[in-house]
Amino acid sequence: MLTNKIIRERDLKHIWHPCSQMKDYETLPFIPIKSAKGEYLYDFDGNQYLDAISSWWVNIFGHSNSYINEKIKEQLETLEHIIFAGFTHESAVKLAERLVKLTPPKLEKVFFADNGSSAIEIALKMSFQYYKNKGEVRNVFISLENSYHGETLGALAVGDVSLYKEIYNEILIKTFQALSPALVGEEDALASMENLFKEHEGKIASVVIEPLVQCAGGMAMYDASYITKLRALCDKYGVFLIADEIAVGFGRTGTMFACESANVTPDFMCLSKGITGGYLPLSCVLTTDDIYQAFYCDYNEGKSFLDSHSYTGNALACAAANATLDIFENESIIEKNRSKIEFLSCELKKFKELENVKEVRQRGMIAAVELKGYNPEQRIGLEIYKYALKNEVLLRPLGNVVYFMPAYTISDEQMRLMTDVAYRGIKRLF
Ligand SMILES: *Cc1c(COP(=O)(O)O)cnc(C)c1O
Repeated sequence: MLTNKIIRERDLKHIWHPCSQMKDYETLPFIPIKSAKGEYLYDFDGNQYLDAISSWWVNIFGHSNSYINEKIKEQLETLEHIIFAGFTHESAVKLAERLVKLTPPKLEKVFFADNGSSAIEIALKMSFQYYKNKGEVRNVFISLENSYHGETLGALAVGDVSLYKEIYNEILIKTFQALSPALVGEEDALASMENLFKEHEGKIASVVIEPLVQCAGGMAMYDASYITKLRALCDKYGVFLIADEIAVGFGRTGTMFACESANVTPDFMCLSKGITGGYLPLSCVLTTDDIYQAFYCDYNEGKSFLDSHSYTGNALACAAANATLDIFENESIIEKNRSKIEFLSCELKKFKELENVKEVRQRGMIAAVELKGYNPEQRIGLEIYKYALKNEVLLRPLGNVVYFMPAYTISDEQMRLMTDVAYRGIKRLF
C-alpha cells in the first residue's frame, strides 16, 4: 500500500518543487495528497487538511466540485484541445462572450493564454506594440511598490517583492515603481505616480496594478478610490492602465471583479487563477476595440500580435471556466458570499486582542493577520504553517502575514476551525 513516506521518497528522487528550498524538506517533509474533496485534502496516511488558501488561491469552489467535474467530462468526450491559430471551438467562443458581458464596459476583445504570468507579459507587450504600431517607441512601464505580477522575466520586472525579484535584477528590464496606496496612503501614492508620469511623459506604455489587494505582497489592501483616481490620472497623461485581476478576480474581493468597486474600465484586464475553478491552467487578457484596431491591418504591414502559447484556449480549461461561471450564476455566489464575508469578519475579531498582532484586515473573502516583533530569520510563518498542519489546516503565511483565502464553499464551522487554529498558532509564539 502507498504511504506518505513511499511517495515522498520517489518524489525527492526527481522532482524540484516550486517556491521551495528543497533542503527544507529534510526537516519539514512535504505532504503527498491522495485525494481532495470540497474544502479537504487527504494524504496517503489518512490525515486530512482544511484548505484555507484555496490551493494558491485557485480552487474557488473547493476541490472535486461535482458540477465542474461533469462539465469537464462532457467536454472531454467531444474535444480536448486544438491549435488556436486558424481554428476555434465553441467553449472558447462561449467563454469570451460571457467574460465580455461580466467585465467592465468596453472590454470587448479576449486574448487567451495559459497562466497568469503570460497574461501579464501579453498586456505589457500589447501596450508597447500599440504605440510601436503607431510609430512611437514607449518603453517605460510603471507599477506599484510591493506589487506582484508573476515569475516570468517581464512579469518579475514589473513586480516589486524582493524575495522573488532581487536575484534576477541584472537581467530584468528597467521599470519604475510608484509608492503603494496600501503602504503610504492614497494621496502620497497618487502624487508619486503623477511625478513618474511627468518625468517620463510621452515614454510610458502602461501602468500595471493589482486592484484593491497586493496579495503576494502580504495581502496589503487599499481603497477603490485610488483606482478611480489613478484611472483619471492615466487619462490625463495618456497612459494605459493594466488591471492585474489574476488573484482578485472572480468574486474574491466581494464583487465579481475588483475594478467594479471603483467603477473603472482598465485598458487591459488580466484574468487567471479562479477562472477555471482551480482545475486547469488558463488565463486571458481583455482589452478594448480601440487597442485591437491598432493591430488590425494587412499582414505585410507587420503590425500583428504574434504572441502565442501551445495551450492557448485549451478546450478542457474553457469548459471548466464556463462551468465556474455557471456556478456563479446559478447559485448567486456573489450575493451568498456576503454572509460568509460577514461571518469571517466576526471571526477575525479575536485576533485583535493578541499582543503580537499588528493589524487585522479584510477585503471580501481575503483576510489577513499581520504580526509584529519578529524578524524574517525567525521564519515564524513556517512555525504557524507547521502548527496548522498538525491541526488539520493548510495555512501558508507570507512572512509575518497569516492570511485566509478559502473557497466560497467553506462552511461557518470550517471558517471557525481555520481561524481558531491560526489563533492558537499565533498565540503560542509568545
Ligand atoms: C498568481 C499571480 C500572478 C501570476 O500567475 P501565475 O499563473 O502564477 O503565473 C500574477 N499576478 C497576480 C496578482 C497573481 O496573484
